[in-house]
Amino acid sequence: MTQIYDRVALIGLGLIASSMFWAIKRAGLAGEVTGYARSEATRETARRIGLCDRVCDTAQEAVEDADLVVLCVPVGAMGAVAEDIAPVLKPGATVSDVGSVKRHVIKAVSPHIPDGVHFIPAHPLAGTEHSGPEAGFAELFDNRWCLLVPVEGSDIDAIAQLRTFWEGMGSNVDEMDADHHDLVLAVTSHAPHLIAYTMVGVADDLRRVTDTEVIKYSAAGFRDFTRIAASDPTMWRDVFLTNKDATLEILGRFTEELFALQRAIRTGDGEQLFDYFTRTRAIRRGIIDAGQDTDAPDFGRGKTST
Ligand code: NAP
Repeated sequence: MTQIYDRVALIGLGLIASSMFWAIKRAGLAGEVTGYARSEATRETARRIGLCDRVCDTAQEAVEDADLVVLCVPVGAMGAVAEDIAPVLKPGATVSDVGSVKRHVIKAVSPHIPDGVHFIPAHPLAGTEHSGPEAGFAELFDNRWCLLVPVEGSDIDAIAQLRTFWEGMGSNVDEMDADHHDLVLAVTSHAPHLIAYTMVGVADDLRRVTDTEVIKYSAAGFRDFTRIAASDPTMWRDVFLTNKDATLEILGRFTEELFALQRAIRTGDGEQLFDYFTRTRAIRRGIIDAGQDTDAPDFGRGKTST
């Protein structure tokens, strides 16, 4: 792989930024990668594990002379970070982000982007329930989608360069409009996370009745919910606060379908349940055929440690 940018700055050094760093290094995509995290503890950890070629004590220092700046902080913090770094952005540089919600990030960041700097929001559809600088790994983006969400007037060449960069980190890249992105993600990620959080919360309430049985006998279904519900509270709080409309729209539809299934159970309508589950099984098949998950029994847990 060839070098795509001379200098890349990663602002925020958690799961996504650290995975980006290792993926950048794996493919030699940048001459130098600088990094910044707000807490001294995270910066120290980053230095200890060799995360970033240079870890800086301020965000401004990290972005100085950078050709690509990627904001890797929670969605709710993007605006303040953009405001902080704006005065030192290099003319001709590209600012991007990895936030899970796009309309809000565009609204919060755009006003701070100086003339002559390109802003191209992005969202890699890859993650784990782990967070922090030590959670990252180079393979996180392999064969996963990264959605670029150009804003009005985004420079074609700068978009092409960012696309090549994400492809170099292993991603498949698509472009999408911000509102459509937020709706699609509400269906595929945001609502499912809320449902997982709720189910684990319900089981926790129930635990008072059943003692430790919920944990002891947590077979695949519940266990998978607990994995999702272990995701970072700050990140997910921000997702729901900033993708409110799309999430509420999907949760409304979810509630209607849940009521329909509830009625089918009460009335003993086995045919409806069977047809519904047959349809959902086909969706799972489609995800596996698209190479987005494994069809190994129990998600391949026997073979991997996740
Ligand atoms: P993470 O592991 O929790 O790391 C977050 C980083 O942001 C940390 O370095 C943290 O600094 C910093 N930070 C937190 N609050 C901040 C604030 N108010 N101001 C400045 N910096 C702040 O998070 P992540 O999973 O990498 O997520 C980063 C972004 O990627 C989020 O926007 C998220 O929506 C998006 N994303 C996440 C996933 C996923 O599955 N995790 C997938 C795709 C996209 P300290 O360590 O110093 O506290």
